[in-house]
Amino acid sequence: MRVFNFAAGPAMLPLEVLDQAREELEDWQGSGMSVMEVSHRGKPFVALAAQLEALLREIASIPSGYQVLLLQGGATAQFAGVPLNLATAESTADYLNTGSWSAKAIGEAKRYCRVHVAADESASGYHTVPAPGTLALAREAAYVHYTPNETIGGVEFPYVPDTGSVPLVADMSSTLLSRPLDVARFGLIYAGAQKNIGPAGLCIVIVREDLIGHARAGTPMVLDYQAMAEDGSMLNTPPTFVWYIAALVLKWIKAQGGLAALGERNRAKAEALYQAIDGSGFYRNPVAKACRSWMNVPFTLAKPELDKGFLAEAAAAGLTNLAGHRSVGGMRASLYNAMPLAGVRALIDFMREFERRHG
Ligand SMILES: *Cc1c(COP(=O)(O)O)cnc(C)c1O
Repeated sequence: MRVFNFAAGPAMLPLEVLDQAREELEDWQGSGMSVMEVSHRGKPFVALAAQLEALLREIASIPSGYQVLLLQGGATAQFAGVPLNLATAESTADYLNTGSWSAKAIGEAKRYCRVHVAADESASGYHTVPAPGTLALAREAAYVHYTPNETIGGVEFPYVPDTGSVPLVADMSSTLLSRPLDVARFGLIYAGAQKNIGPAGLCIVIVREDLIGHARAGTPMVLDYQAMAEDGSMLNTPPTFVWYIAALVLKWIKAQGGLAALGERNRAKAEALYQAIDGSGFYRNPVAKACRSWMNVPFTLAKPELDKGFLAEAAAAGLTNLAGHRSVGGMRASLYNAMPLAGVRALIDFMREFERRHG
């Protein structure tokens, strides 16, 4: 039985995508082989790679002047890749600290450049984002890094920070392709695919061309944006099956009506769940209302001793992976692109029934 999987990542994939992958698993495009078994240098796979990039450019409206790189090592590798390519050991980079993932990015960047924390929301328990216009930006920073959606805390920026001429770098791992975006506002966007876009193993990097070609000496080739761009992200063997599934997901996104339609659906899903939480005296979401995430909705039960029972009964009802991150506890429902509104409705119905019996 297919379940509604609320995992934070790897996450649910569209059933249509899984069905198509199964249908052509043993014989991809008449090759007599699975897509996993063909050469990444052969014509059919090179065409797939070109299609993947073209779909990404079309769906995300990526302007000319930006390169699209398909890298490995997840978003975590880019915690190092960004300073290695965009900063020197002596230069300063601004970081906004809004939760676990920004903190991890900061920790890694400190190994490669000077880090200046231009906003720190830890005093709020990471339940807020800095107000627009309040960033204490360093003078002459190499870039400003932030995390538009904090996957663990469920905090999201409702605006794009204005950094003037300093390149803005965004870890969009849990938000890229979940709604329309204006790529031109950013110097660099990176995102692990395993939330909204495909299986784990692919990190998408969208980078303005003037930021390429400055990797410092000693940068590993697979993290050097110029080297990867020149080789079409095939400096080494790419995760071919992951690229294939990602291309199927992108076609699915197009068929859904693109990012405008997905954005509407994702907003409606999140609103319905927050309304149910706020309207109950039993469930609670700790995040300031203006910056609640559409993608990751943490919530607690009035009686934490019921957490285990809640998770077990939910799983039995086909609603899985609702446990909050081990660092914060409670519950978390992740509502990425592939989660249908019906899944959110089923969760809300379950929550009401659980409250009726235990509240
Ligand atoms: C999931 C996630 C990461 C880590 O991604 P990996 O692919 O595991 O490296 C980093 N940042 C954010 C915001 C995430 O949601």
